[in-house]
Amino acid sequence: MQTIPDKNSPDQIRNDALFLGKIPSSPHIEESISVPLLEIRDLTIHFIVHRRVTGPNVVVHAADKVSLFVKRGETLGLVGESGSGKTTVGRGALRLIEPTSGEVFLNGQNILKVHTRKLRDMRRKMQMVFQDPADSLNPRFTCRQTLVDALSHACYGSQDILRKALDLLESVGLNPSDLDKYPHQFSGGQQQRIAIARALAFTPELLILDEPTASLDVSVKTQVTQLLRELQKKFNLSFILISHDLSNVKYMTNRVAVMYLGQIIEIGNTSDIFSKPMHPYTRVLIDSVPVPDPDQKRKRASLIGEIPSATEPPAGCRFHTRCPIRFEICDQKEPHLAKLANGHMVACHLVNSSSE
Ligand code: SF4
Repeated sequence: MQTIPDKNSPDQIRNDALFLGKIPSSPHIEESISVPLLEIRDLTIHFIVHRRVTGPNVVVHAADKVSLFVKRGETLGLVGESGSGKTTVGRGALRLIEPTSGEVFLNGQNILKVHTRKLRDMRRKMQMVFQDPADSLNPRFTCRQTLVDALSHACYGSQDILRKALDLLESVGLNPSDLDKYPHQFSGGQQQRIAIARALAFTPELLILDEPTASLDVSVKTQVTQLLRELQKKFNLSFILISHDLSNVKYMTNRVAVMYLGQIIEIGNTSDIFSKPMHPYTRVLIDSVPVPDPDQKRKRASLIGEIPSATEPPAGCRFHTRCPIRFEICDQKEPHLAKLANGHMVACHLVNSSSE
């Protein structure tokens, strides 16, 4: 039986308000809603890739007006093809890339408005784990040096550092005997465990996981995924999981945001996104997830052509050049994210007109 969402529930009010850009002002409502850990509003990141003496510069529209939030203890999946802007949004949230405009609130404080010292403090609360641990670890640092370096930046006193380093090693399933090994003496999975331990040294509240298992074998991938889930529970962490691996996203996340060419085109609870995807692009992505049953035949939808260049995003709906069901207004008018039930939002004229 389908549950009818309570439109007066705190989460529903919060979701609606965030995405409509109307933060409710009633003190009663303000008290009753929980402030998300991370809230991104209208984040826009453009890169000038070619400055012209005459005429307009060539600009990559890496992210355009991206709005999302992450609650405490939850995992938000960020999915889409390469070039859709997922990693850019993750880096923009940490201010590793300076956004062109927008706002990023961590615990209610705008990270884009703070200066060096405060920025450093806020970044400790948000750590990033990168795709390839071999690239992110210093090859000349032993595991001990990597962790001690992180812990000293996290302001631990020298007498606590070794004990804390050993605790971290234990948390990620490594042994004290691993302390004096160099990265090349570890497997890919163990290297990723060290990268996770380094991130945990700062006692973060949010981890931005950028394809954390993409470079690992299937069995190791499962172990690292399991480890992340255990650590999330143990330390009450929130995750943003940036991934191409939709099976893993389905397993790991509470909510999913789908990006296409720098914009969020659908966002909602993981179960809704996977069971009733509304945007044609999301449907194709979901259809491409392998089914582990050789007898189960699936009718696969496919996309026309390649993702367009982010230097010249198509007018109207950015997906119209590849959409199998586009119609007249799709190349003229940009669809806005319209809300359906349960915090589910979709940017498509077909869905918008049927929900109005
Ligand atoms: Fe397709 Fe039009 Fe919907 Fe865009 S707005 S996804 S082109 S139907």
